[in-house]
Amino acid sequence: MRIENDPKLDFKDVLIRPKRSTLSSRADVTIERAIPFRHAKRNWKGFPLIAANMDGTGTIPMARALKRFGAMVALRKHYDVDELVSFFRSDDSANCFYTIGTNEADQEKFAAVKKQVAIPMICLDVANGYTESFVDMVRRVRDQNPDAVIMAGNVVTGDMTEALVLGGADIVKVGIGPGSVCTTRKMTGVGYPQLSAIIECADAAHGLKGQVCGDGGCTVPGDVAKAYGAGADFVMLGGMLAGHDESEGEIRTEMRDGRKVPVAMVFYGMSSDTAMKKHAGGVAKYRASEGKTVEVPYRGPVDVTMQEIMGGVRSMMTYIGAVSLKEVPKRTTFVRVSAQLNTMFGGG
Ligand code: 5GP
Repeated sequence: MRIENDPKLDFKDVLIRPKRSTLSSRADVTIERAIPFRHAKRNWKGFPLIAANMDGTGTIPMARALKRFGAMVALRKHYDVDELVSFFRSDDSANCFYTIGTNEADQEKFAAVKKQVAIPMICLDVANGYTESFVDMVRRVRDQNPDAVIMAGNVVTGDMTEALVLGGADIVKVGIGPGSVCTTRKMTGVGYPQLSAIIECADAAHGLKGQVCGDGGCTVPGDVAKAYGAGADFVMLGGMLAGHDESEGEIRTEMRDGRKVPVAMVFYGMSSDTAMKKHAGGVAKYRASEGKTVEVPYRGPVDVTMQEIMGGVRSMMTYIGAVSLKEVPKRTTFVRVSAQLNTMFGGG
């Protein structure tokens, strides 16, 4: 047994220190990035925010909405072949990842879709990216799709980030345990504070010309800003994008002034009992559910939330004098604060 004594930090443990700058308005900054990919050998341009490949966020309507902001969606896994083919033939799919799971049915479905339409971006998503078999899978998918952008994860340490980049991933997805509907930390005791995970994995990936996507744990726009400050090239959101018209979740209504109005939406983790019952016919005997089901407030169209997130990031950039999103980590100094103080000021 070993104990690591270096402090490891979460979003709530830090704030970003303001810096003197010549910028005076949010209009002076650009949140668009041109990101080069090591293996796919091409650039992607846009606002590097990704809706998570969850039932409540990785939907086709979300892809259409986020495309207007130059942001991305990792599609949920459970669309059928025809839906996927017609979607990937449309312009709406320009910023979308096709998500492949590890089981045989997922691989067969992917092969069937690929026969009919090109898939330029792939998300390989497992709860635990530390297995040899996952690295083998990344290698195999890279061999079969040399030109595709491949995002793979999840991991939380530099060594495994390097293994995935060298194995063929352009983007490594970072985060074990921070998700809003994740119970991994509770059920297994395993995890890593998300801000430190991003800092360490970004350092490892960037040295090899790879990129990282900070996945999970953002609860307010300021957390997204901190993730970029820590070195995340992309940020993936579940809970913050749930509860919208584009989420396609089950809606709870209430009678108000004689009218039925939507007030909440069901949102669940992809390894929760709810998801397993829906997609796999129940929780397998050898595994415990590591996700939960919650109700989030109904929030209408996702455009308003996107404006808030983008406004928060732009404003952070004017506070630290970063003209472009790429400059943000260089201009970021985190100050440690007591978690309690930060929560009082809305740090989640
Ligand atoms: P959020 O933005 O809601 O904090 O986190 C979203 C991320 O949580 C997803 O992208 C995914 O990595 C993770 N996640 C989604 N469902 C589950 C689940 O059921 N269990 C666990 N451990 N993580 C989940």
